[in-house]
Amino acid sequence: MHLQPEIDRHIRQVLEHGQFILGPEVAALESALADRTGARHCIAVSSGTDALLMALMAWGIGPGDAVFLPAFTFTATAEVVALLRAEPVFVDVDEASFNIDPQDLSRQVRRVLSEGRCRPRVVVPVDLFGLPADYPSIGALAAEHDILILADAAQSFGGRQGDKAVGVLGDMTATSFFPAKPLGCYGDGGAMFTDNPDWAALLKSLRVHGSGATKYEIARVGINGRLDTLQAAILLAKLPTFSQEIDARNQVADWYDARLKGHVTLPPRQAGSVSAWAQYTIRVPNRSKVQAALQAQGIPTAVYYPQPIHLQAAYRVYGHGPGSLPVSERISDEVLSVPMHPYLSEEQVGAICTALLDVVTR
Ligand SMILES: *Cc1c(COP(=O)(O)O)cnc(C)c1O
Repeated sequence: MHLQPEIDRHIRQVLEHGQFILGPEVAALESALADRTGARHCIAVSSGTDALLMALMAWGIGPGDAVFLPAFTFTATAEVVALLRAEPVFVDVDEASFNIDPQDLSRQVRRVLSEGRCRPRVVVPVDLFGLPADYPSIGALAAEHDILILADAAQSFGGRQGDKAVGVLGDMTATSFFPAKPLGCYGDGGAMFTDNPDWAALLKSLRVHGSGATKYEIARVGINGRLDTLQAAILLAKLPTFSQEIDARNQVADWYDARLKGHVTLPPRQAGSVSAWAQYTIRVPNRSKVQAALQAQGIPTAVYYPQPIHLQAAYRVYGHGPGSLPVSERISDEVLSVPMHPYLSEEQVGAICTALLDVVTR
């Protein structure tokens, strides 16, 4: 890869100074990421999952608290809520965006309020496949009910909505640097963003076991949630070309759209938003046939996600069973993600589309 010499140089520097935990590259990355997003504070952490967990811990979320999230997402979004013994409340997604449906969110908040069993505290919109959720509508509802917004931007880092970058769209934002995400490191990693200095201080304490003024003074129960220095160094080396990579992903998406339009259901887009295009995800009714045909031609595809979370064995206890969130259930049966990365050429996209159209229109 063209970035390899620069990445190697950054790794060597870390090996030389030997500060593997919270070394200077971590602080340098945090300030670079804060600058890029416009967020006042960035806290680099061990993974996207830990970022979500620490955000909820900073807000003191626990038993008796309702946390609203889309049913059509990666497990981690729900798992952190269950781990804290709070109540995950699954919300259906909007068919036009694959993201949390503000109208269903409003219904679910009212339902939880009328049941009176737990208190609505947080909504976790997920920017699925890289496209920011409907933060203006969610924000209005959250303000009405005094609910905090934790943006799960694990897939959307590098995206925008209007004049705002992903990172400043929620009260807190969690992102991931897992290798397959738009900005990937060489292992696990993540970051959190907020404008609130008190929350930022809490997050910094939580990621080092809840440390107080000194290392051995423990002010609260925390976790080991640090990003390691080598990962920070790798991300610093990748950051200068990241905007070009997001542009390239958008170009690849445009090439796909142009070829596939009228033949399959294209991925959601939103006027005024820039997707980070973590995935290019179409809908096809005969998914397994299409997948097998592409596989036979050496074209890898993936299904994110074959089952919405409210139907997963571990989470059924929180949900209302099959038929309760119809859009999430319908979409899960049809979504198919085709190759997407910034270094795909127009010819490669063309070849993938030819193979795809061959089976779809057969
Ligand atoms: C990847 C992902 C996470 C978790 O990130 P990790 O860094 O793998 O822990 C959380 N939410 C969503 C939507 C994701 O795609």
